[in-house]
Order: sequence, then C-alpha cells, then structure tokens
Amino acid sequence: MENQKGHVLVLPYPAQGHINPLLQFAKRLASKGLRATLATTHYTIGSIKAERVHVEPISDGFDEGGYKQAPSTQAYVESFRRVGSKTLSELISKSYETEHPVNCIVYDSLLPWALDVAKTFGIYAAVLLTNSASVCSLFWYIHQGRLTSPLCPDALPIVLPGLPLLEFSDLPSFLAYPESQSAYLALIMEKFARLEENDWVFCNSFEELEAELVKALFGIWPLAMVGPLVPSAYVDRQIDGDTSYGGSLWNPTSDQCSRWLDKRPLGSVIYVSFGSMGNISSDQVEEIAFGLKATNKHFIWVLKDFEHKLKSPIQFLDSIQNRGLVVEWCDQLEVLAHRAVGCFVTHCGWNSTLEGLSLGMPMVGVPLWSDQATNAKFLEEKWRVGLRARKGEQGTVTREEVEMCVREVVEGERSEEFKKNALNWKDRAKRAVSKGGSSDKNLGEFVAKIREGGG
Ligand code: UDP
Repeated sequence: MENQKGHVLVLPYPAQGHINPLLQFAKRLASKGLRATLATTHYTIGSIKAERVHVEPISDGFDEGGYKQAPSTQAYVESFRRVGSKTLSELISKSYETEHPVNCIVYDSLLPWALDVAKTFGIYAAVLLTNSASVCSLFWYIHQGRLTSPLCPDALPIVLPGLPLLEFSDLPSFLAYPESQSAYLALIMEKFARLEENDWVFCNSFEELEAELVKALFGIWPLAMVGPLVPSAYVDRQIDGDTSYGGSLWNPTSDQCSRWLDKRPLGSVIYVSFGSMGNISSDQVEEIAFGLKATNKHFIWVLKDFEHKLKSPIQFLDSIQNRGLVVEWCDQLEVLAHRAVGCFVTHCGWNSTLEGLSLGMPMVGVPLWSDQATNAKFLEEKWRVGLRARKGEQGTVTREEVEMCVREVVEGERSEEFKKNALNWKDRAKRAVSKGGSSDKNLGEFVAKIREGGG
C-alpha cells in the first residue's frame, strides 16, 4: 500500500549503467510503501518494466534517438539541461494537481541541474552517486583544492584520507586524461561543487565495502550508502524477489545463454563483458579473443558488433568450436548467477563490479576508461577477489596477460582465496540490504523523513 504522504521523483541519466541502479532505487522505495515515479526520456521509457514504480516521460530534446541523435556529448548534455529542466518542472507542477504532490527529487549524479529544479519548487533534493564513494571522493578532493587537475604524473602517488595510495594508472580517466572527456568532467565537477546543497547524498555502495572512506567523510557529506542496488532475488534471495532490473535497453539472448550454460559443469565457464558502452578497440578485442582461446576454458562473451571488431571472426569461432559463445547482449545477472559460471572478466564498470561482488564471483578486471581503473585496483588490492590485467607497451592488455590472469584466478595458487573472499563479500552485500542492514537502515530513515511530508 502506498503511503498517502510523500512522493519521490527518481531521475536517471538515460544510459544502462544509470537506469539500472536508479530504477532499482525507485523499486526499493516502492517496496517500502512510498510512491516513487521514474522520470525518464522518451527514447528509454519503452524499456522500463516496473510494476510498483510509476513511470513518466521527460524530454532531453532528442526524443527519437536519444544521445545517438546528438551531434556531440556537449550538445546532448546542454540540450538535456535546458529541455529536461523544463519538462521536469512541468511534471512536478502537474503532480500538485493530484493527491500525490512530489516532495523530493532523487537525481542521477550526471544531471546536476535537477538540484536547481528542486530548489525552485522548495522540495527535498538528493543526489544518487552511481560510482563508488571512493571514486567520487577523488573528484570532491579536487574541488576542495587537495588535488590539482590535470594531475601531474610526477606528483604521485596520491595520499588522501580514507583511500589507499593511488598511482597514475589507478586514476579515473576523467582525471588522468581530462582533455579527452571534458563534457563529462565538467558535469562531474559541477556536482561536487554543490554537494552540500543536497539534503542527502546517496551512493550505490555499502558501508562495509568502503569502510575507511565512509569514516573519513563522516560529518562532511550528508552521505548515505544504499547499495548494492542489485535486484533483490540476487542479494536477499527473497522467494518473490525481483529477478531483473527491468530496464534493459537491448534485448537479451539469455535463453540461449542459459541453455548453453545448463550443459556445462559447475564453475567451469568464464563470463566476459565490457558493459554497455561498447568503447573497446579492435586491437583489444583481438587480444582478448586469443587470450580466452589459449585458456582452453569455456566462455560466454558479450560483445556488440563482434563481426566488425575481430579481424577474422568466422575463423575464430570455428577454431574454438563450441567452447565459446559470443552474444550481443544478455541478462548479466542471470548469467552471473548460473552455477556453471566461475569467473567474471569485466571492464569494472561500477554496476558490474558490484554485481560480481554481490554474486560472490572471482573476477579479472580489464579496465577501459572512466572509473574502471580505480575499481580494478580495489578489486585486486582491497577486496582481494581477483586480479587486474595490466596493459602492455602497446597500450592494450595482451593475450598472454589475459590468459595468465584467467588461469591464476580460476586455478592458480590464490584461486581458493579469491573464491572465499568473493563469497564473503556476497554475504556482506546481502546483509547490508536485508532488513536491519546498514543500507536498509539508511533507506528506511530517508523513507520515514519523506513520509512526514514537507520538503
Ligand atoms: N549488462 C547487461 N547485459 C550485458 C552487459 C551488461 O544486463 O550483456 C548490464 C550490467 O548488468 C550492468 C550494466 O549493464 O548493470 C552495465 O553497467 P556498468 O556500470 O557495469 O558498465 P557501463 O555500461 O556503464 O560501462
């Protein structure tokens, strides 16, 4: 039963790695009896399937094709700010004519302009950070003047409260190479310049995972860890738990994956995925392909545009026979949860990293850009659930490195340790979101405040 008081509008950036955690957040609010509406772009709204969450469209100015229609990232971001602010405001005004006036916006950290909309209406504002708190703290430390950007490789390693020593190769690409991604960096810096203006700063992570950092930021950010925002069937194992995020932008070929996996022995398959963005070079694809082949293990590899990324795709597939399955897209959680899967080769996008940890999966990190190098460092050094593959002189991870990392994680001296640590994190993730756990408590306190009305 939805409570009469309190209505939260949840606003994701329209990319897969953002829709997933924000929709999951909205579902968790709804499961606590709060009215939650996901406001998403026209281009993505058809993909959303969420029974208890209300869904409304807003416009980014590119209603037919989304960001792909925009001439540049900069143009997209500007259009979304302008048109999105207007349509979001209209949505809130419209809610005032109903029994459910919106009294809080929870917005994606890539949409910092939503804070101004909340202020105009005098309602609560909460930002949801879709990266780890550790990565976010790095951007904030820059804003605080404790780090300078662009970072000078000679001034490293970096020593900051709550974080391990960081080398140049551990940094998010937005900091290591700021000139190449300036539109995103500007958005990120804007968010951190105004962090304390929010009533809540939510993060898709959990306290136990980043304990030192949470301690270092205590009383500085209004931080509430609410993750992992992974469908409940996988983390709490509820009988009627939610088995999918419910907002897939592509059609999964999961039936094919499940049927293929059903025939493979326990823990024998390597699952390989580089997320939704598809920004992996052909050279890197070639190295991964032959590295996987050399392991002699079974694998499922998610790769869009495989035929064009590999030099001789047909010969490659022939040469591995039925040891490998390459698909365009799958239901990643379903695959990771399958008993036959024993290792996750991942680009270390934050959702994938959290999913791997939540499902107790040993991992090999092959970071490409954004926050992935930092996540890979944590995976290897702090959470100790696997290895991070290192780039060779050509700037790609070589086939030998891929083979070595997979073998080490699956059957090397430390493989049992990785497995044990991964299962430990799975258990802690589950406890964090289960009734009375750290993330569940943080969410409960937020819900109680929103239910009081106000904002
Ligand atoms: N994903 C999926 N099927 C795939 C590949 C990825 O459902 O074949 C999902 C994955 O479960 C994750 C999201 O897409 O929730 C990707 O987010 P992530 O932060 O890992 O990477 P990004 O795509 O943002 O680089």
